[in-house]
Amino acid sequence: MNPNAVRSFVDARLEGYLAELKGLVEHESPSGDKPRLDALAGKIAARWGGLGGVVERVANEGGGDHLVGRFPGPAGERPALVVGHFDTVWPVGTIDRMPFRRDGGRLRGPGVYDMKASLVLVAAAFEAFAALGLAPRRPVTVVFTSDEEVGSTTSRGLIEALARESAHALVLEPPLADGSLKTARKGVGRFAVEVEGRAAHAGVAPELGASAVVELAHQILKIHALNDPAAGTTVNVGTVAGGTTPNVVPARAWAQVDARAVTAAGAEALEVAMAGLAAVTPGTRVKVAGGFNRPAMERTPAIAALFERARGVGEALGLALTEGATGGGSDGNFTAAAGAPTLDGLGALGGGAHADDEHVLVDTIPERAALLAALLMEI
Ligand SMILES: [Zn+2]
Repeated sequence: MNPNAVRSFVDARLEGYLAELKGLVEHESPSGDKPRLDALAGKIAARWGGLGGVVERVANEGGGDHLVGRFPGPAGERPALVVGHFDTVWPVGTIDRMPFRRDGGRLRGPGVYDMKASLVLVAAAFEAFAALGLAPRRPVTVVFTSDEEVGSTTSRGLIEALARESAHALVLEPPLADGSLKTARKGVGRFAVEVEGRAAHAGVAPELGASAVVELAHQILKIHALNDPAAGTTVNVGTVAGGTTPNVVPARAWAQVDARAVTAAGAEALEVAMAGLAAVTPGTRVKVAGGFNRPAMERTPAIAALFERARGVGEALGLALTEGATGGGSDGNFTAAAGAPTLDGLGALGGGAHADDEHVLVDTIPERAALLAALLMEI
């Protein structure tokens, strides 16, 4: 059969898919907004149900519900896991200043690229299967969650459990800027550093105080010195605060730190270094909380082999697939660490994720739908 049949199918119905995407973008869904996320989950569940999926809505008290769709395939085969999220970083009302619109070859709007276009890819692939008499090579489990943009705290266990029972994971996050798939992602850590000192009148008795702000300054430089870009390890003291008023020796100061590492060993070394931070100013105490919340997705031999197979599948579609690494984390970090070889960055091409110029390249929607369909048929 013509490997580009799915692409032609989607191309011929592109206006309909763009209208579907418009509806998804205009249904704003910031992480944490349970009513809006739940309403969107209802719409997606109905769509998947119409495509032959058995949809489980995973109730979530701590945020929007998550969705798992199971699409049948040959018995006895482990499923392929397709991973995405339907929350966005955009607060409600963004749509008024950044409306969904087509601007030449680009589609603009909050969350269009990260990653509502991916919901359309899933729908298009399964619609094409049904219309063209095609079928995936294995059962397919599709999981879309409501809290990826805020660290996946409520969906992590679900994603890991599904990854453990799956043959591999295909993550529909945006690709690298040049369209490359992502076969390695840094691990992501978050630390809170809190310094306790002793307050005193800055004019009358400064010698009775112990400045938490000065101590935090020492700690910031120590933390910054943990940067080792050559090894792929980075730390960023992103926020600092402390003190109460200029005439008081500050009793409290704190900072928030982002940390990244390319390997599990690098992440562990950073955790040890952070836990070992000790005060240098007499009378102060340093407390460090936190750690890595997304493990590094390392380019294992299994991931390299999966990419190689995908490259072959892409070739048959006339696509020259390339791969790369990123410092950003996604739910692919969890699927990979749970043992499912993971290919990430399978979303449509575009740019401006989390930024005002967020956009998707229209032409790549049929292309990426065809790629997803072919990966599900071949691998
Ligand atoms: Zn995303």
